[in-house]
Amino acid sequence: MPLGLSRREIWREAPGRFVSWLLPESCRFCSAPGTAICDDCHRELPRLPADGCSWCALPVNADGDCPVCSIEAPSYDYTFCPFVYTHPLAAAISAWKFHGGLDWTRPLAQAWLRTWTTESLPARPGALLPVPAHPARLAERGYNQAALLARHWARAYRIPLRDVLRRTRNTPHQVGGSRDQRRANLQSAFTLRGKLPAHIALVDDVMTTGSTAEALAQLLKAQGVQRVDLWILARAL
Ligand SMILES: [Zn+2]
Ligand SMILES: [Zn+2]
Repeated sequence: MPLGLSRREIWREAPGRFVSWLLPESCRFCSAPGTAICDDCHRELPRLPADGCSWCALPVNADGDCPVCSIEAPSYDYTFCPFVYTHPLAAAISAWKFHGGLDWTRPLAQAWLRTWTTESLPARPGALLPVPAHPARLAERGYNQAALLARHWARAYRIPLRDVLRRTRNTPHQVGGSRDQRRANLQSAFTLRGKLPAHIALVDDVMTTGSTAEALAQLLKAQGVQRVDLWILARAL
């Protein structure tokens, strides 16, 4: 299954592409004619502060410290995430992920791309790696939305897309055990095959606690990757 994309998913995206080519597009949020997310709605999407924590993108306190990373520095290096996971993006992401709304892939991927001008383009990694979905979830949903985003962004920036991470088991919310035990448990849910450049970016649609990103960053750094950035569509506050 190349790039975590199933044949079914590729075909399911095809009608949407055909329809959008055939019909004039209108804004998904306000119905204004033109693009899938109009300029006004794009401007009004809930955003994380531009001067937030460079590690995890969360707002910093009055002293400029991140309430999370100042306690313990994460293993990843930078998070590039423009949006807050709330209305109206949360509903769009949910339709995209859970209700087969594959025609959301392009508008959402482009909303992220429109945030960076050429000058503010995130530092250029040597490869993009989608955060893998568990095979059972992939089979049930038919696609991994992180892989869909990564494919768009890799194409837009001409950065190689590397599908080298696998999730070997599901990791439900973990309770009990020490933080180190929970981390080790989460980290052992992933495997990595193949060599990677020194600087990579992990791609995911939503970041909540950051524990998955932390586990993957630790795994990647243990394998010799020097810098791990996160390219995330939306972050839960
Ligand atoms: Zn609009
Ligand atoms: Zn932080």
